Amino acid sequence: MVATDGVAICRSTAIRSCVLLLAVLNGCGDGAGRLGISADQKSTDAAESQSEQVKNPVPVATSSLSSANEHRSEDSEPPVAQIVDQNTPVATSISLPRFRLPDDRPSLDRNELLAEGLRIVESEHLILVTDLPLESVVELPQLADALFATLERRLGKLAPDIAGTTFQVTGFLMDARDRFERAGVLPPEQYPFQHGRHLGYRFWMSNQTADYYRRHLLLHEFVHCFLMCEYGMPDIPPLWYTEGIAEYFATHRLHADIAKSEFGILPSSVEGFEGWHRIAEIRRHFNQEPSVTGELADIVPLQTVLHPPDATFQDDSQYADAWALVWLINHHPELQPDFAAVAACRTERQFDDAIADVPEAVWKQLNQVWPLYLDGLHEADVADVQFPALTPLKPQESNGDNRLPSEFVLDVDHQWASTGLSLIKGQQIVIECKGRYVVEATTKPWFSEPDGITIDYVDGRPLGEVIGIIISADGTQTTRRIPIGSEKKMQSPIDGILWLQVNDRWSQRKKNHGTVTVRISAGNP
Ligand SMILES: [Zn+2]
Repeated sequence: MVATDGVAICRSTAIRSCVLLLAVLNGCGDGAGRLGISADQKSTDAAESQSEQVKNPVPVATSSLSSANEHRSEDSEPPVAQIVDQNTPVATSISLPRFRLPDDRPSLDRNELLAEGLRIVESEHLILVTDLPLESVVELPQLADALFATLERRLGKLAPDIAGTTFQVTGFLMDARDRFERAGVLPPEQYPFQHGRHLGYRFWMSNQTADYYRRHLLLHEFVHCFLMCEYGMPDIPPLWYTEGIAEYFATHRLHADIAKSEFGILPSSVEGFEGWHRIAEIRRHFNQEPSVTGELADIVPLQTVLHPPDATFQDDSQYADAWALVWLINHHPELQPDFAAVAACRTERQFDDAIADVPEAVWKQLNQVWPLYLDGLHEADVADVQFPALTPLKPQESNGDNRLPSEFVLDVDHQWASTGLSLIKGQQIVIECKGRYVVEATTKPWFSEPDGITIDYVDGRPLGEVIGIIISADGTQTTRRIPIGSEKKMQSPIDGILWLQVNDRWSQRKKNHGTVTVRISAGNP
């Protein structure tokens, strides 16, 4: 952690201090993962910062609905927060400000910039001042314009500027920072930064060696400017969301026709996303080796991401988790509708209201789904990805809740499925699996039984093998993957719910066909 004037600063080796200003303006943290103000103080400050707008709220491109379950609307334009196909318009109950904040950019002395060897490239929504060669930057303003169009389509149109000007940001992309210092265009010295920082309608960033990550960091700062130009920087959603949404939209696929570039994507490979590393960062933080007895995997629990022990970001893994969570709530088909209203939020109160509308049962399910999602997270074509299902498997015989023996039918094309069985630490069970099914059907079908087949291994175990994970009800403890195969006698290492799947990649399951019959009974290991 870095401290300036007694204020803690968010820090990351990759994206550092872009939220420093927020910390400076707010003071730091209420211990619940918020940047800023304590719980009592925040409502006062939020009310003050919104007072002008609240007097005369003019909904812009949204209509008023009262609950999260009513967020689907037939006629709201543009669609807000529809991610998977972006076909379902969503309205929110949020009143947007009548005007966004005035453009606060000092005028540029272009002659002085040129005298320092700086060049300017610009578009409708971005003026970029840089000392990089033209070929490294020429596409960036257009790319920012493409992102702007996506942000307005997905998050709602910006309130207009009172002066009637178009939303435009000035960015400073710096290789030799002293040139910018001599030109007098660095941020005020109380806002130091290493990689990136935004301030009103401006941002500054250090050059990045990888072309992908240079674009990514620029887009990340641009998203912050977009999201904070209406209500300002002191009153924002919690850090996991503020940084997660910036990371989410900055993750992009560049097209030859820049205007067709895509944002908010899942990288399909490591290649082409050099310097990004979010998935690798997540995966290196937990134990991916299977375990016969089910020791804990040490996956960061959802509640730790939502309520970090420190109110500032300390390392890259927090940016990675924030990105992963925002990606999940936007793409999991069962979760997405409950979180759709969050997309329109700009202030902490708006965010809190939208989050409060998410049913408690969904949060409980998300506690469980989160570690399973991280366990399967890999670069992939998003259209092929399968998610852990929120609904538990239905026992074939009804013995009442949590009664053994219990029998389930497991679809082999599904990602993790919950048995709904709450095991007690030390409880002895026998799991028996039967079935013959097709895995990863390609030119010819590969038949597997519950012990799997050894033509391929996934995460250290045979393809098609039945495997399990036990997760505590609150999601704070997750075992490593437990090989089960055709029969497994085991003792539950924790209090938790048993999840099952056949071993495969989350993006290959759609090629599987068939079922496994799973019988779970009391027994001696
Ligand atoms: Zn940031």
